[in-house]
Amino acid sequence: MTLPKIELHLHLEGAAPPAFIRGLSREKKIDISGIFAPDGSYAFRDFAHFLKVYEAATSVLTRPEDYHRLTLAVLEQSAASGVAYTEAFVSPDFCGGRDLGAWREYLHAITEAATEAERTMGITLRAIVTPIRHFGPARAKEVALCAAETAGPFVVGFGLAGDETVLTPKDFAWSFDMAREAGLRLTCHAGEWCGPDSIRDALRDLRVERIGHGVRAIEDLALVDELAERGVVLEVCPGSNIALGLYPGWRRHPIRELFHRGVKVTISTDDPPFFHTTMAREYDRLAEAFDWDDGVFRQIARTSLDAAFCDPDTRARIAPLLEPDHA
Ligand SMILES: [Zn+2]
Repeated sequence: MTLPKIELHLHLEGAAPPAFIRGLSREKKIDISGIFAPDGSYAFRDFAHFLKVYEAATSVLTRPEDYHRLTLAVLEQSAASGVAYTEAFVSPDFCGGRDLGAWREYLHAITEAATEAERTMGITLRAIVTPIRHFGPARAKEVALCAAETAGPFVVGFGLAGDETVLTPKDFAWSFDMAREAGLRLTCHAGEWCGPDSIRDALRDLRVERIGHGVRAIEDLALVDELAERGVVLEVCPGSNIALGLYPGWRRHPIRELFHRGVKVTISTDDPPFFHTTMAREYDRLAEAFDWDDGVFRQIARTSLDAAFCDPDTRARIAPLLEPDHA
């Protein structure tokens, strides 16, 4: 589908095209051939194996210039799907080992690539800094300090990724307070692997305005009503949920019911090549499953842009692209 799209939930490393990772592994003579299927895509059996394959793939990304190339490769893929604006999760855990000086170098490389992509591909990128939940609160504090020091027009948000089943949002409250005080907007993965209470915990203990996934709110309709009333935005990634077995197929995905119950849902790809998806494919599958027309997708794109963490000028520059009469 060629409609202009706004993506809010994308892990930069998780979006790495397999051919790019293979090329880099050859250049660096790192043998990770075992993570690829015969057709060249990433191959994994289940969620635990997915995390291992993901880790092996990202092990070849070791220098700022790797991230410069990665950013360009990812944005090229997104732009081909009609994405006009995207927010990507980046982490000082992977970019410089939480050292502020090194993080600045990685960030500089990513920002330069983003500027180049904006000029050549017409796609805008902003970054959400994310500690990794299973690395624990102490590391998250170092990540939050890096985020606070580099908050600005490019680093616009702070989130929490990683294994949702370990620790609690409250364990990360210090880091989120730090990020909030630095002017960063907040989101947190919840309601994917854990149930509705994990969403309540994130909203109460971290005071986030968006939830990464959040689809399992559907198991508690009082929570669904609360999300709708409060205007909490869900970064829904249907293809990811289906690939990882949360729902047995597109028609069974709760995004439609959440949407009809007035929740602000948005559409993203999470780690697209791992889940054999793209933003264009998400739109196509949703249109097929739910008979959604352009009007629905335009409404969702506007909701997404309203929920984007960028500054008002950036939002105002992108908004006209979503109008039906835009050439
Ligand atoms: Zn995610």
